[in-house]
Amino acid sequence: MTTRLAVIPGDGIGPEVVREALPLLEWARGRGRDLTWDIYPWSATHFLATGEILPEDAFIELRDHTDGILFGAIGDPRVPDGRHAEGLLLRLRRDLELIVNERPCRPILDAHLPLKGVGAADLEIDVFRENTEGPYCLKGTTEPDRATDLAEHTEAAVRRLLEAAFARAADRGCPLTLAHKANVLKHGHGLWMRIFQELKAAFPGVPARGLHADALLCALVQDPRPFGVIAADNYLGDLISDLLAAFQGGMGVAPSLSWAPHHPFRCAALAEPVHGSAPDLAGNGLANPTGMCLSTALLFRHLGWTAEADGVVSAVAKALQQGAATADLGGGLGTRDMGAAIRAQLPD
Ligand code: ATP
Repeated sequence: MTTRLAVIPGDGIGPEVVREALPLLEWARGRGRDLTWDIYPWSATHFLATGEILPEDAFIELRDHTDGILFGAIGDPRVPDGRHAEGLLLRLRRDLELIVNERPCRPILDAHLPLKGVGAADLEIDVFRENTEGPYCLKGTTEPDRATDLAEHTEAAVRRLLEAAFARAADRGCPLTLAHKANVLKHGHGLWMRIFQELKAAFPGVPARGLHADALLCALVQDPRPFGVIAADNYLGDLISDLLAAFQGGMGVAPSLSWAPHHPFRCAALAEPVHGSAPDLAGNGLANPTGMCLSTALLFRHLGWTAEADGVVSAVAKALQQGAATADLGGGLGTRDMGAAIRAQLPD
């Protein structure tokens, strides 16, 4: 069956970095993959021009008739309440039940690591961040003299996230760490701890422990080498994975894949870089497309296209090793030239 993808470039630097990922789809097709894709306009610009965020029929089309989504970035100062982000990206994550946001940390160049005595080859960390709940569920109130944000955690989502994290740690033969603050967030993180303890019994081969998130951040900076898989709620996972982006060269390099471990719909994965829309860079042609390209590799891997995923990762590695670098990595290339440098290293 033909693999169908939806491409949503979105806001800010999203369209610029997605433009460098599209040739990777063409390359996969050129290798014989039966692949098509459609490019959709949903973004702040589209919302401001038409009032449309994500039409219902389009959502159903994505859900039932595509195999994955390539997403650039969302967020625009012209929509300060972020309602288009809520109705587009957060809705896709929630309504496609993309509970796992996988954010791998695989540094390529020693020079990108800011830590003394730690080399790129020493780190192989996967953050499994819950993607649909927690403090990012956008429920709360603002009153004249107080404001609240509700952090809702459900048994179903937490169990799915933690099962996927345990399964990954078992596959990799590495330890699993749960980041939490159950000492103060007694209800929500208490639920995480209960399910974590149950699954620990079900996966006796996985060395698993919970760590207070503040202590975990400290330990990661002191020595990240002992960590394998880190599971966390939406909020803590966001913070931890941005720290790990710094170990890979910065926000422009780090990739992510959101996926539904229980595969409830045909569309069960959305690839997007860890970075946001970076309005300060948008339109300058300076954004680093590496995180977007590595996210595309994660989508290929999710589709079972291992050779194509490996091909993109090795092309990025070779390009960086040969000195290709955008300004955030200390180089002089613009987005287009960095994309071209990566493409030049793709295998036949
Ligand atoms: P969000 O909350 O949507 O994740 P954010 O507030 O974390 O967004 P980003 O948009 O990720 O912010 O950008 C933070 C900064 O990182 C930017 O201002 C920019 O300087 C840098 N940055 C982000 N992405 C890139 C990139 N692809 N290339 C180079 N620099 C980047």
